[in-house]
Amino acid sequence: MSNSCESVPNVFGSNVFNDRVMHERLPKDVYKSLKKSLENNETLDPSIANVIANAMKDWAIEKGATHYCHWFQPMTGSTAEKHDSFISPTSQGTTIMEFSGKELYQGEPDASSFPSGGLRATFEARGYTAWDCTSPVFIKKDGENVSLFIPSAFCSYVGHALDKKTPLLRSMDALNTQAMRVLKALGNTSSKRVTATLGPEQEYFLIDKSYYNKRLDLILAGRTLFGAPSPRGQEMEDHYFGAIHERVASFMHELNVELWKMGVSAKTQHNEVSPAQYELAPVFATVNVATDHNQLAMETMRKVALRHNFVCLLHEKPFAGVNGSGKHNNWSMITDDGINLLDPGTTPHENMVFLVILCAVVKAVDKYAKILRASVANVGNEHRLGANEAPPAIVSIFLGDQLTDIFEQLATGKAKTSKKGGDLKLGVSTLPPLPKDNTDRNRTSPFAFTGNKFEFRMVGSTQSTSGPMFVLNTIVTDVLCEIADELEKAGNVPVKAQSILKQIANDHKKVLYNGDNYTDEWVEEAEKRGLPNIRSTVASLETIMDKENVALFKKYGVLTKEELHARADILFENYAKSINIEAMTMLSMAKRQILPACVKYSSVLAGSVNAITSAGLDADSQKELLEKVCNLIAVLKDDIANLEKEVSDAGKVSGTIKLARFSKDNIIPAMNALRITADELEKITDAELWPLPTYAEMLFGK
Ligand code: ADP
Ligand code: MG
Repeated sequence: MSNSCESVPNVFGSNVFNDRVMHERLPKDVYKSLKKSLENNETLDPSIANVIANAMKDWAIEKGATHYCHWFQPMTGSTAEKHDSFISPTSQGTTIMEFSGKELYQGEPDASSFPSGGLRATFEARGYTAWDCTSPVFIKKDGENVSLFIPSAFCSYVGHALDKKTPLLRSMDALNTQAMRVLKALGNTSSKRVTATLGPEQEYFLIDKSYYNKRLDLILAGRTLFGAPSPRGQEMEDHYFGAIHERVASFMHELNVELWKMGVSAKTQHNEVSPAQYELAPVFATVNVATDHNQLAMETMRKVALRHNFVCLLHEKPFAGVNGSGKHNNWSMITDDGINLLDPGTTPHENMVFLVILCAVVKAVDKYAKILRASVANVGNEHRLGANEAPPAIVSIFLGDQLTDIFEQLATGKAKTSKKGGDLKLGVSTLPPLPKDNTDRNRTSPFAFTGNKFEFRMVGSTQSTSGPMFVLNTIVTDVLCEIADELEKAGNVPVKAQSILKQIANDHKKVLYNGDNYTDEWVEEAEKRGLPNIRSTVASLETIMDKENVALFKKYGVLTKEELHARADILFENYAKSINIEAMTMLSMAKRQILPACVKYSSVLAGSVNAITSAGLDADSQKELLEKVCNLIAVLKDDIANLEKEVSDAGKVSGTIKLARFSKDNIIPAMNALRITADELEKITDAELWPLPTYAEMLFGK
């Protein structure tokens, strides 16, 4: 693509089999039938599948595609693809290009090598993928290969969800049903459907590839396991929103173009708080499409970074001591006729639909704080949540002044007024007065109301947005269902609604907090209020199978008990495996790189002590340094032995939960001790001898 702006509309969606292409290429009746099923959330008429498949194939081949692929999201959290070519050999030794309706609808990948959390016995290898026609088919080019990608759900032979898409779609259906009941009860006669929306802001780091290649920890674990702090960190606060470095800007441009082609609406880009950290945000879409697009965004970031000799790090905490990366999930609900259910309007106190939905979200987040917390529990996020830069592990809600005021009015009866934002006068005659938003920003809140949506900020940067989003959809569904039950049987709906709001405002005000979430005072205050503060990933995962969660997901058909259990099991296993990889990587680096470098340095020092002494001079300073290095080497050796013992003891622990606990309680402390010693050695060892790129180089070198 050239750099001119005119071409963006041509580029955008050029590789998507979108509505325009369908309209152009499908026979009228087929197009109408497909549109109707999409709009009404109905299953497609199988008789038209062959026609659609054929049109897709012709379009894809014109774009250079040779293959098609069911693209799905196994419970690893990333994506999976298996490509089949369109070729169908003929008896004359030639080939024709074919693609049937059945091939579009359904794939049968071998499921045996994907994590199933015990849902699928190894002998039942068969798995099915099914086209999710609510997420458009698109073309992806990797190197010289061009394939037609079909977003798909993935399940086992007996129908258990083995993926991240299925529960998300189920939760969207459930939310639609219960939200529509509430809307109808409140007198809405125009809307037919409610859809959850998501705009995920994705944070990431870019570092030079030459540094990455020299760091086994980045290569294998995605984060630095060693590294003394850089003399300069983020204390100057000059990186956030700073001018974007040319090399990075070029990367961003190419990233945007690649994403736009696939219909991903990359919109906002800027420098983040930490040096070498950046953010990308798209325009929001349905949670399903936004989740697919976020997967594409993460994958494309990695791919395009390499073309610019960068490596993109998506880990939640690639570097100790500077900010980690999250993925802010902006979430709301919208009706088919365009009503954003979280839009307060100009007089929110009079907007009954808004107040009911708002209160439902507040109640859901308070009541189900633990499962919401568990939806963001993973190995990387443990370094963020509760540490001093990210939202704490305590789930609370920021509403801002105006809504908090309304909430307080509701608690005493009826809300009668809405505080106004007013204008901001800048004191410069040439600058226009700016309308003041009704909510200020609170960057420290884990769950903040931001004008017409909530922003869930605890989500980790590597995570699929599916988990946090299907949990949020389902907990809100549950409260909406309770409210609908009451409203539907009420004689006087407005009076009933008022009393529901009053009850919620009284019972759940404890979850509201507009102050600084990073302070110790808040931790104390939250404890007094009885809010859970679950800092560790393992402890959080242990709450997943609580009775109320099993009942919740079952009631709304989002996950069966077995499916939920499988997910918990995979999360525990993933935690233990990740810690094991990190520990093994540390041992390898410590034994094969750090220790030899320090030994070499000690012999250099010893040589210099000898040389100086035999020259008849006093070598006390050199001796002192040598002694320090030798002492630290001895400690390092002990730390290595200790970590080796813990790793080997872990081999004797059976059961995924026990192993995860053991990893947290035994392996992580041994890793931390080893790192402290190695980082001390880094600070005093000759830079020429140090085998690893330093924090300063990685964070500031471009
Ligand atoms: P911030 O200043 O926090 O970055 P933005 O206004 O840039 O906030 O929005 C962040 C994200 O929120 C974007 O992806 C945007 O599309 C998304 N967003 C806006 N409105 C909604 C909505 N109604 N539902 C879901 N996401 C939304
Ligand atoms: Mg934001």
